[in-house]
Amino acid sequence: MARVLLKDLTKKFGTVTAVDKVNLEVRDKEFLVLVGPSGCGKTTALRCVAGLEEVSSGQVQIGDRVVNDVMPKDRDIAMVFQNYALYPHMNVYDNMAFGLRLRMLPLWYKGLFQMSEVRQTKGSIDRRVKDTAEMLGLTHLLKRRPKELSGGQRQRVALGRAIVREPAAFLMDEPLSNLDAKLRVQTRAELIKLHVRLGITTIYVTHDQVEAMTMGDRIAVMKDGLVQQCDRPLEIYNHPANLFVAGFIGSPEMNLLEATVKASNGDILVDAGSYQVNMPEKHKESLKPYVGKSVRFGIRPEDIYDKSISLIPAQPGNTIGVQVEITEPMGSSVLLELDPGDGKTLTANAGADTKARIGEPLEVVLDMSKAHIFDAETEEAVF
Ligand code: ATP
Repeated sequence: MARVLLKDLTKKFGTVTAVDKVNLEVRDKEFLVLVGPSGCGKTTALRCVAGLEEVSSGQVQIGDRVVNDVMPKDRDIAMVFQNYALYPHMNVYDNMAFGLRLRMLPLWYKGLFQMSEVRQTKGSIDRRVKDTAEMLGLTHLLKRRPKELSGGQRQRVALGRAIVREPAAFLMDEPLSNLDAKLRVQTRAELIKLHVRLGITTIYVTHDQVEAMTMGDRIAVMKDGLVQQCDRPLEIYNHPANLFVAGFIGSPEMNLLEATVKASNGDILVDAGSYQVNMPEKHKESLKPYVGKSVRFGIRPEDIYDKSISLIPAQPGNTIGVQVEITEPMGSSVLLELDPGDGKTLTANAGADTKARIGEPLEVVLDMSKAHIFDAETEEAVF
């Protein structure tokens, strides 16, 4: 097992800086997710760890070794890609055993193997393949070729091929993207179980923030080659470090509104144009320097309640009148698109028994203890 350390890792392609001085420690046995929009540099960062890209500057360390100049095959890592690239002419067993056999070849050629060692090695490869197949539910498929498998089964073979290597670290690049929605969710759960069981340090790349939230011990959110925030999923969800992270993590997205901070009768208010809400006592001090200034006010859809079924006591400072534009029943809840009177949209995730009807007025209660404020210039979170 090993930790992976990136120190000031930078990768440039001509004038494009794909990865910009990234510092990241992936702890031993940790499942770290690199997440971000297309082009943010997550695949390039992973390929630098794998040795598939030469770094422009900085260091990659796996375990105690700096591996900048170590060949990919000698880095003690195993990769699983979106495209599982199984050998079509080999059955499942051989696909899984192939890498292990290949590693033995140089020793064959050098004549270092005695016949007894050959038997032993063959035996150990056989055991590793069969144990892994058992663990992944592939035992009954060992004789089949890839074309005789479903997408999910193929992906499990690709995983098995990585697992039999018993690497120090797994590097996974969008490994579930080719699966349909249901299988994705299933395979996601299997991967989590597998990680708990094997405890192998894993770096997992995805653009899907739900995958990141559900799978990662920690998540590193990337944008423009930079790590914006790296922390435990709920910490990132509850305390996004900046406007980008706030908008990227969470579905439906956090409402982010232009507003002005005001002081009135000892209270601090946020004025969003067509309505004003009171900020809680705990945030007064941090908001004082912003009085009279523009900020971005953030509130997640699930922190906005239909007043008639609100879990939060309604008060003048947290209740606003809106017009219901769209209702989307999701079964367990109803997504509402609301117009507070300024033509801007507020999204709420209301309880399933909401009385909201399209085209009708509604009163909603904002849980202001969960509100966020971002500096309009720096885009950093005030809280
Ligand atoms: P995606 O989710 O779309 O795969 P990503 O976050 O993994 O995106 P990268 O593939 O790492 O992003 O790309 C980061 C940046 O580097 C992009 O601007 C991309 O165009 C650029 N880039 C990546 N590979 C190369 C290359 N071989 N040559 C030139 N530019 C590249």
